Amino acid sequence: MHYPAIKVNREKLRYNTSILIDKCGRLGIEIIPVTKVYCGMPEIAEASVKAGAKMLADSRIENIKKLKVLDVPKMLLRIPMLSQADEIIENVDISLNSEYKTIKTLSEKALQKGRIHKIVLMIDLGDLREGVWYEDAVEFADRIIKLPGIKLVGVGTNLTCYGGVIPNSENLGLLASLANEIEKKYNLKLSIVSGGNSSSLHLVDKNKVPKGINQLRLGEAIVLGNETAYGERIEGTYGDVFTYMAEIIELKEKPSVPIGEIGVDAFGEKPVFTDRGIRKRAILASGRQDLKVDGIQPRDKNAIVIGASSDHMIIDVSDCSREYRVGDIMEFDLDYGALLAAFTSEYVEKVIE
Ligand SMILES: *Cc1c(COP(=O)(O)O)cnc(C)c1O
Repeated sequence: MHYPAIKVNREKLRYNTSILIDKCGRLGIEIIPVTKVYCGMPEIAEASVKAGAKMLADSRIENIKKLKVLDVPKMLLRIPMLSQADEIIENVDISLNSEYKTIKTLSEKALQKGRIHKIVLMIDLGDLREGVWYEDAVEFADRIIKLPGIKLVGVGTNLTCYGGVIPNSENLGLLASLANEIEKKYNLKLSIVSGGNSSSLHLVDKNKVPKGINQLRLGEAIVLGNETAYGERIEGTYGDVFTYMAEIIELKEKPSVPIGEIGVDAFGEKPVFTDRGIRKRAILASGRQDLKVDGIQPRDKNAIVIGASSDHMIIDVSDCSREYRVGDIMEFDLDYGALLAAFTSEYVEKVIE
């Protein structure tokens, strides 16, 4: 095996997916697993499909193409690039949209290819990331249902992404009522009312999801077992689906404060040091080129991450009961950002169990 590595326990991922399918299913809400954090690796996404997921979603067309081997519809989460319209018609079943010009291009391409492309209209309820402003949504829907080659199958929203707005009965209630208004006014059926991401789960537990919301797109909740509005653990889920592993290349006792005049570190930041005396420090062959170092937590609770440069990470192991040696592997939990970086780094070996 090569290090650094990230190990994936698919059984735990399957289990997390099934817990969430049950929990949301009881309220009539379907969950769509979001695969972007692990770069859409089909071997991993398969675990969620085995748990019963009926669709998969990713932000990038490259990942959606990788997922082709799995026989479920794919949703494109990021608003399409005009330059990718052809690829989207060919590879994506449903895309989330907010721009008329893009939807019109998708319509033309779909028509050329003799296909019907499904669209979810994204509505901005105040978080200020993507979406048609909520006051303009009903009118906007009218313009797109007239276009051939595409089918408006639903509406959706994204919260807690840019503005940090927390989903509640009021904002999601507005989404549901806009869906209703569009259905009545234009005499059509919207099968999807997509009420956001892992930050909407707290409403599921409190049974406060407004009637009409029937879908959530879940990334972090499945991979890390977190709801993301308040950062709580989701009861019964595994938080250790992923394990980051790096190898010790130096182990020495050294002072905790450098000797000499202190300038800036390799990243142009002026480091600060606390004098804890002589400490036992492990240097690991892993650094900022492999992951986001402030998003990791050693599994050995007595180990302390003290810093990192591009390819070295320093861990204080003085208080650890385990007697570490050069060549030993240390294990870490990762937060969402660190997980994203580790999967994206070509230097990190992906090990699928
Ligand atoms: C990433 C993403 C999600 C999933 O977000 P989580 O917080 O990981 O659940 C859902 N919807 C959209 C549009 C996204 O980009």
